[in-house]
Amino acid sequence: MLTKEFKPWHVPVFLAKYAYLTATRRPVLVHFEVTMRCNARCGFCDYWKTDPSAKATELTSFADAARFFNPMVITFTGGEPTLRKDLEDIVSAVNKAVRLKYMTLITHGGMLSPERGRSLWKSGINQFNISLDYLDERHDKARGIPGLSAKIMKAIPRMREIGISGIRFNTVIKRDNLDQLVPIVARARELGCGVNFSCYTDAKNGSTEGVIEREQTQQLEETIRELLALKKKTRGVITNSDYYLEQIPRYVRGEITEPCRSGMRTIHVDPMGRVKRCPDFPTDFHWTEFRKYEPINCNACYYACRGEAQAPLRFSRVRDVMATPRPLALLHG
Ligand code: SF4
Ligand code: SF4
Repeated sequence: MLTKEFKPWHVPVFLAKYAYLTATRRPVLVHFEVTMRCNARCGFCDYWKTDPSAKATELTSFADAARFFNPMVITFTGGEPTLRKDLEDIVSAVNKAVRLKYMTLITHGGMLSPERGRSLWKSGINQFNISLDYLDERHDKARGIPGLSAKIMKAIPRMREIGISGIRFNTVIKRDNLDQLVPIVARARELGCGVNFSCYTDAKNGSTEGVIEREQTQQLEETIRELLALKKKTRGVITNSDYYLEQIPRYVRGEITEPCRSGMRTIHVDPMGRVKRCPDFPTDFHWTEFRKYEPINCNACYYACRGEAQAPLRFSRVRDVMATPRPLALLHG
């Protein structure tokens, strides 16, 4: 499934950039947290409690930082990035600053009208990652935004109609949505989107509401097997590596002991330009004083970005990239 902007010849070029960044131990993926503010009310995240006055300290441009890191994948995230009225300017400046890259936007989707989608797409966003953990009102309740799932389902076909081909659901696997995972993949397929799974953690604010219980391991394993089979049958819909999906039950059983390589393959830049190794760690320095990170002995989470950074470059991963010629597939599912 090719998107209009990316052709098969892009794949080896991106692979070359990936190899270069890996060999020089530079981050392949940079997340720009353009704001910490958010108008959702998720129980497992405290970003929405950010004081509105933080707006005054947010950088107006991330272009210099983007030029400095020159990564292969750039993600605009938050908080809720669409709260920023100047997001198009931010995206456009980064788009001009880095030549060979793939740019994504992570959003809860509550303010993503087709018109806003179009203007962000024109500014350079290649992929919209919309959070979706349930197909029904449970999603609205969990995010504290009435009517959210219905709004997302209405917006996506309209976004597709106006030519936005890069849309994915970001689905967090948690205690009470194991029954939703396969149906979410089916809905994504109907809508012509992808799904990227990540695993719930209480590392954000200590909320254990979504932590998968050990007693659920069997159900989890069966669901993962189903997802892997679905992935084979309909290449390009589920965008995680086989490796990442296979490791999730190990994480739940507490068996993951490999050091975390966040900070090496992926970094986060906060709204003021300060760098942290992952979303849930404190900042270490300003990007202008960047120093390379070493692996860390932390297993507090098994986010997709953490797990995918550990994934070996198996043949199945190359096949994933060919199915969806998006460089993000190499790293971030
Ligand atoms: S998880 Fe995302 S949508 Fe929910 S409060 Fe945090 S930043 Fe907002
Ligand atoms: S395991 Fe890695 S990504 Fe997760 S919280 Fe720890 S350092 Fe951050």
